[in-house]
Amino acid sequence: MKVLVIGTGGREHALAWKLAQSPQVTGVFAAPGSMAMTDCASVIPMQGSKDYVRLAKDMGIDLTVAGPETVLVDGLADRFKEAGLAFFGPSGAAARIEGSKKFAKDLMKKYHIPTAAYESFTEEKDAIAYAEKQNYPLVIKADGLAAGKGVIIAATFEEASKAIHDMMEGLAFNGAGRQVVIEEFMEGEEASVLAFCDGTHVVPMIPSQDHKRVYDNDEGPNTGGMGAYAPAPVVTDEVMQQVYDRILKPMVDAMRTEGYPFTGCLYAGLMITSEGPKVVEFNCRFGDPETEVVLPMLDGDLAQIMMDCVHGTLSPDSIKWKKGYAVDVVMATRGYPGAHSSDDKISGLREAEQEGCHVFHAGTALKGDTFYTAGGRVLNVVAMAPTLEEAREKAYQGVKKIHWDGAQYRTDIAVKGLRHLKK
Ligand code: ATP
Repeated sequence: MKVLVIGTGGREHALAWKLAQSPQVTGVFAAPGSMAMTDCASVIPMQGSKDYVRLAKDMGIDLTVAGPETVLVDGLADRFKEAGLAFFGPSGAAARIEGSKKFAKDLMKKYHIPTAAYESFTEEKDAIAYAEKQNYPLVIKADGLAAGKGVIIAATFEEASKAIHDMMEGLAFNGAGRQVVIEEFMEGEEASVLAFCDGTHVVPMIPSQDHKRVYDNDEGPNTGGMGAYAPAPVVTDEVMQQVYDRILKPMVDAMRTEGYPFTGCLYAGLMITSEGPKVVEFNCRFGDPETEVVLPMLDGDLAQIMMDCVHGTLSPDSIKWKKGYAVDVVMATRGYPGAHSSDDKISGLREAEQEGCHVFHAGTALKGDTFYTAGGRVLNVVAMAPTLEEAREKAYQGVKKIHWDGAQYRTDIAVKGLRHLKK
């Protein structure tokens, strides 16, 4: 089986790496990919045309998976289907659960899936009038895709009205905020549950936890994710059952009933509240950096699981998990998530691997035989071990081997998980 992975980041590197381990996979191709992915895939840089359907046809690809949401929301899965090619990922209609927050919230409301109370607005004056009557903090969200930057937690009405104005004027986020969703602030700890779906069946992966803020103790601005670990003990077996019964299964049933069944990886971003798990957001694809800790723990054939999703034959029996834990520490460049440096020489990658870590590249460029920084998030240093404590130690041993001028990383990845385990 020949497999194509679309995308360039750490998530795609992890997908390609795991797919390459499948006994039936004879070749993994990555487009546009990154030079780091040559450790497990053949890279097709795709200069000029981005016609992935043609590429898959020409190369005789048997299965394609896309990392980023943008191509899914844009209907790439539909184009593969029309061409008669197997594609792991939702149709454009189903991807709206990530592409429009109002669409996702309206669907959750209709099918009684627990989430924060909300209202949506297309008129600035109505949004501001509503915000004036709410309790604070209040959450203001741009409706469309905003690369993780379309959410403002407003502490006061003044902050809320400024956020609403900036979003609805269409100045921010390329117009993604011409419609806004205003929702109640939920108290709790966040966790992510990704699930394999074939339109009818849902098989959750082990729960994980991202670290969105740039600095230790969840301080500083939001980022694409500074690290993750799995399984996350805040999602106990009881909570996981609730996530399945109240959130994942009803959502997949709802989408089938509404005529746009979900096939692919459904990502539930959750708040574990005192009333149980509630949905913060749904994404229509693998999470980054969650994928980098979840897939290494999968004890099974990812290519086969994805094919089962495509063919509607997904079964929980084919999906097993390794014992122990995985921890991912993201190394980023100085200044990230703001303006940041780049083109710094990276050393110590081999030494980190010798510590037993696996390094998935998020943003690097290869010059000669040396990698240089080429992005805000640069590397994911991943370690697995029987205990969370050991996995964390091992990941940081790897991080300590890697150097470039201005590397930054959080020192408290997985500490919340350790606290839960000590309770
Ligand atoms: P991303 O896709 O990068 O996770 P996004 O732009 O799609 O982000 P959300 O996931 O909806 O936005 O929100 C981003 C973050 O804001 C959440 O991870 C959470 O920390 C916080 N947040 C969002 N909604 C709420 C809420 N109702 N209550 C409390 N916190 C919230």
